[in-house]
Amino acid sequence: MANVKLEIVNLRKEYGDLIAVDDLSLSVEQGETMALLGPSGCGKSTTLNMIVGLENPTSGDILIDGESVINTAPGNRNVGLVFQDYAVFTNMTVEKNLAYGLRIKKQPKEQVDSEVKRVADFMGLSDKIDRKPAELSASELQRVAIGRTLVTNPDILLLDEPLSNLEADDRNRMRRELRSIQAETGQTVIYVTHDQIEALSLAHRIAVMNFGHLMQYDTAENVYQHPQNRFVGSFLGNPPMNFVEGTFRKDGGKSFIESGSSLMPLPSSASTSVDGGSLVAGFRPETLVLANESDENSFSANVLAVEPQGPESVITAEFGETQVKVVVPSDSEATSAETIHLMPDFNLLALFDSESGVRLDTRGE
Ligand code: ADP
Repeated sequence: MANVKLEIVNLRKEYGDLIAVDDLSLSVEQGETMALLGPSGCGKSTTLNMIVGLENPTSGDILIDGESVINTAPGNRNVGLVFQDYAVFTNMTVEKNLAYGLRIKKQPKEQVDSEVKRVADFMGLSDKIDRKPAELSASELQRVAIGRTLVTNPDILLLDEPLSNLEADDRNRMRRELRSIQAETGQTVIYVTHDQIEALSLAHRIAVMNFGHLMQYDTAENVYQHPQNRFVGSFLGNPPMNFVEGTFRKDGGKSFIESGSSLMPLPSSASTSVDGGSLVAGFRPETLVLANESDENSFSANVLAVEPQGPESVITAEFGETQVKVVVPSDSEATSAETIHLMPDFNLLALFDSESGVRLDTRGE
């Protein structure tokens, strides 16, 4: 049975009139990596700080292993926070940095030594053990910072934008390393990031936040493929999700969305919409299939621009009053066509309320 490690219940944080975190509820299972993802200012760090105990919630509860930690001092919560800027002691060797958390807990020397050795091996720092931070690369410093926290064997490892100070190469390597740390230790990890690629590649589940609200909490695959609102659809993906705002039409038992005078076919799950009402169809650029004009369920769009990007090209095309982006293979004839015919993948097409942006259709799961 799933073992809930962290439970956040109706958590709220106000700073004067500003609601930084609003009624946040979610749970994280033992051994899971959860990413808090969202734009700057959406409440990620405030949430993290409340879990660690650096900030007190205005209301709500935080439970670790089923016990409320709201009244537990930060030092006694057994959560390990790794800051964005590494925060390693610059005057201490790697070995002393790694040992610090155990030494202040007055652990016996043999135990400290063996734990430091274990973590240094594990983090690939064994040959750097006598170096000072100034002699280390950015990714080595990051490994020291994470290792220093892992030594203390925290219940939950919290990482605040851990890769944002690294160059692209180091960032990719560190991403792989974080995945293997997680897989090998079974450590429960909470990862704060504004970078969707990091969240999608590292997390089992992603909590997407905006203006202090939880917009969706689901597996990485589901937040990408099945966004529950326009915000999540637009925040994840590059190029982002296409949105066609139009009028719902029914004709001969079939459903369409009308933009200008153009019609795009919709799946039968759209039948709950009101004929003549407005709605928004959302679909990712890579889910549109190139089709023939005669194909059932295809629609036409006029090509405005083609951007080659190596093996794939991004076509910007006009459908009715909307510009849509389509990702196609670069050797496709579509890259030199004036008009293209496209078929939406009905399993991956989402319908949103035009006012609230909330998803209307439900998948038959
Ligand atoms: P994120 O980590 O997603 O960038 P934060 O949690 O840092 O967002 O901030 C959420 C909101 O709370 C922002 O509007 C921010 O300005 C505000 N905020 C954060 N800390 C404080 C504080 N100590 N005092 C007042 N406002 C704050």
